[in-house]
Amino acid sequence: MRKKIVAGNWKMNKTAEEALSLVSEIDNMVKDEVSGEVAVVVAPPFPFLQSVGKLVQGNDKMHLAAQNVSEHESGAYTGEVSAAMLKSVGVEYVIIGHSERRLYHHEDAQTLYQKMKATIAHGMKPIFCCGEPLEERDADRHFEYVGKQLHDSLSYLSNEEFDQVVIAYEPIWAIGTGRTASSQQAQEMHEYIREQLSRMFDAEAAYNCSILYGGSCNPKNAQELFSQADVDGGLIGGASLKSRDFTDVIKSI
Ligand code: PEP
Repeated sequence: MRKKIVAGNWKMNKTAEEALSLVSEIDNMVKDEVSGEVAVVVAPPFPFLQSVGKLVQGNDKMHLAAQNVSEHESGAYTGEVSAAMLKSVGVEYVIIGHSERRLYHHEDAQTLYQKMKATIAHGMKPIFCCGEPLEERDADRHFEYVGKQLHDSLSYLSNEEFDQVVIAYEPIWAIGTGRTASSQQAQEMHEYIREQLSRMFDAEAAYNCSILYGGSCNPKNAQELFSQADVDGGLIGGASLKSRDFTDVIKSI
């Protein structure tokens, strides 16, 4: 059975106090209003992982994610955070390859592969992000572009490792822009991604892989996007910073 997931990427927002207040509101709303099988994931900044994690511990619908991880095991890597450290504070998912990290921190395909290996080796699930810039879509090369991103970072994983992977399709032109992919554009790409995965790994694993949509997803458009056959949930940026909006997105699944 494919898992439904709605994940909130808080990016570099909130102070310690604000983070706790946001997560306690989300936690209460999820307890009161969300029924059915959906995994709700929150990805606060590193300094708040432990406190946010403690708050959601008793709620089996809620899960903790990190926004990044080092590809290195340990040692002299000033400013980095290892997979073992994340695991030790209760992290279950790690967002890997977000377009902002690819762009501003020059993370390449090989580095992303190593980050995924480290994440899986420590018993956590990577949320691997892919998605094309506007010029690739305008030139009708979006399938090829995303196919290469998947191939270059995932194809060296074993079937067992791939079983732990969640994919997030996030067209760069839709991130933080208010311009969402249409449900047809999302479905077409998700179907294509699943087909590529079935070529790299066994078909059943590809069928069972959760593929999330991300890019200006909000309470108004979530239901239409989530109703598509290959859209298994969302990776939510802006709308995850407001408890009411985030809960309404979750309820759209
Ligand atoms: C994101 O950055 O992962 C994202 C989906 O952002 P937004 O929802 O704000 O477009």
